[in-house]
Amino acid sequence: MTAITSNLQAVNHAIAQAACMAHRCKESIKLLAVSKGFSAVAVCEAYQAGQRDFGESYVQEALDKIELLRDLPIQWHFIGPVQSNKTRGIATHFAWVHSIDRLKIAERLSAQRPARLPPLNVCIQVNVSGEASKSGVAPSGLLELAKAVASLPQLKLRGLMAIPAPAEGLEAQRVPFAKMRELMHQINMQGLALDTLSMGMSHDFSAAILEGATIVRVGTAIFGERNYGGNQ
Ligand SMILES: *Cc1c(COP(=O)(O)O)cnc(C)c1O
Repeated sequence: MTAITSNLQAVNHAIAQAACMAHRCKESIKLLAVSKGFSAVAVCEAYQAGQRDFGESYVQEALDKIELLRDLPIQWHFIGPVQSNKTRGIATHFAWVHSIDRLKIAERLSAQRPARLPPLNVCIQVNVSGEASKSGVAPSGLLELAKAVASLPQLKLRGLMAIPAPAEGLEAQRVPFAKMRELMHQINMQGLALDTLSMGMSHDFSAAILEGATIVRVGTAIFGERNYGGNQ
């Protein structure tokens, strides 16, 4: 068995354990394998081990892999910062974008989403820890942005995404994830129907699952250490 295969098994096992602790079924949590910094061969290996959803943060790197692996039925998720001059490649080649934090970007993605494809699934990234350096909309601006994004024709607003400040220990890690759960609840009380909380990475996905994560984005624990990137 390759390292990637056994790592995937271990991560899936840990997801199942956290799901049990949360009294949830493991099928309610999707594992997104974050393959940024790793080759198409590594992605293919994870695919052979049963993984179907992959996350990328850099447009050109992602498009190269997507082209190489075009015959595999992979769902590609864009999880990095979206620059407005890169929206067309994203709108054309991805099934999901997790990192919407401005209306202008959402409008471009909607306008550029090819009509032959289903609407692009999107999440709004929330700066849940209030860090000045982090991308994401502040919680105070979230509802207004969510309503505007939800009205765009070629997008389907699915939920919220966050990258909280790193914390040690399950209880401390749960705090920002609980806040995300509450934010989604508040938005749904206003008449929207979000079903996705994209939160939890290699070091904190168990805490995220305890607070309702439906997509966990895991890179290092599957593919190993990267020599660049992460956390942006
Ligand atoms: C890189 C990245 C991840 C994966 O992080 P790991 O710590 O390697 O699991 C998850 N989400 C986003 C947005 C990332 O950029």
